[in-house]
Amino acid sequence: MKIPVRAASHSYVVTIGNGILQDVVQSHKTLFETADKIIVLTDEFVWAAQKEYFEANFSYSFEVLVMPAGEQCKSFENYQLTQTFLLEKKCTRKSLVIAFGGGAVGDLAGFVAATYMRGIPFIQVPTTILAHDSAVGGKTAINHPHGKNMIGVFYQPQAVIYDTKFLRSLSEKEVRSGMAEVIKHALISDAKWVEELVEGHSITNLPEQLLGDYLAQGIQVKADIVEQDETEQSVRKYLNLGHTYGHAIEAAAGYGKVAHGEAVMIGLIYSLLLSERHGKIDHAFTKRFLQFAIDSGYPFEAVQQFTFEQLTDYLLKDKKADYGVLQFVLLETVGKPFVQKIELEECEEIDKQLRQLLVEVQA
Ligand code: NAD
Ligand code: ZN
Repeated sequence: MKIPVRAASHSYVVTIGNGILQDVVQSHKTLFETADKIIVLTDEFVWAAQKEYFEANFSYSFEVLVMPAGEQCKSFENYQLTQTFLLEKKCTRKSLVIAFGGGAVGDLAGFVAATYMRGIPFIQVPTTILAHDSAVGGKTAINHPHGKNMIGVFYQPQAVIYDTKFLRSLSEKEVRSGMAEVIKHALISDAKWVEELVEGHSITNLPEQLLGDYLAQGIQVKADIVEQDETEQSVRKYLNLGHTYGHAIEAAAGYGKVAHGEAVMIGLIYSLLLSERHGKIDHAFTKRFLQFAIDSGYPFEAVQQFTFEQLTDYLLKDKKADYGVLQFVLLETVGKPFVQKIELEECEEIDKQLRQLLVEVQA
């Protein structure tokens, strides 16, 4: 299935399907044939699990750089190491970078491609559920000790090739993490879809075909938004639902301890509580949604590990924070997001409410 992304700066196509790698590589052959060098950036786990399938279905010669797995690859050190690799391999402006991995590899590889010699082409070959989100839309970044994704640019890929066969080697934790972004896409777009997710199959054990359909649906939601607002001046902010509080939990825990999507799920509950006050979400829905998230195994114990004071620093470092006033994405009703400024005092009240609710629901 092909999903076009008509971003203002550049249009490209996301192709998603099971076992499609070889065919889709062929259909993009001009991209590969015009490149003077192809560099595959990947991480150790992805390469260990998927090297064979990749090599069997990718018919061009390439150089590979295997990075440490996960969030740690988005460091300044790794950024420099990757640029050094490109220089040593004598890459030019006509070289092509392939981001082969999850969101971490994708974010790093995109930023490397965007800045190597002021920008060279790159392709996303996502291997996680979460990357249905991160590989589309052109946000690239690395982390700074002061905060996640603080250093980066908007830079769109030439294509996204999403072979869902890669997903078979994901751990349950990573499936759960990725599904949080699928659920986020549902929450900002479609109440019926949310009901289907909450009431349907176990989300960590979806039939392959249904998972593929959900991923395509999520990509479509993202593509529609990116087409309207590539650089997050308006509606693209909606994609940050759950991310303000979520990023604070993720950063407080130490990058990689609580997976990105796991933290986002905690942030989604927080946003629902705020949406009861500022929108028309009813408390019964929040409770039902929380029960579903607990039953799906999201690690809510992470909340109790930090005080609100510990989270505050990270909340204030959010890219959307403005001198102590935070910007949250909330829901008017399910499927209808809006942006709301919230004072830190109110953040603390909601934090308290979340902690009480967790005790109540888990009891
Ligand atoms: P990830 O890339 O760290 O992958 C998670 C783990 O799964 C890693 O240990 C990785 O080695 C392993 N893995 C990946 N694919 C595998 C496979 N097929 N089989 C076995 N193991 C595999 O994390 P992620 O969850 O994909 O992405 C999270 C990152 O994405 C965060 O850094 C987040 O900030 C970023 N993100 C970016 C955007 C964006 O728009 N750019 C959007 C959402 C998230
Ligand atoms: Zn995210």
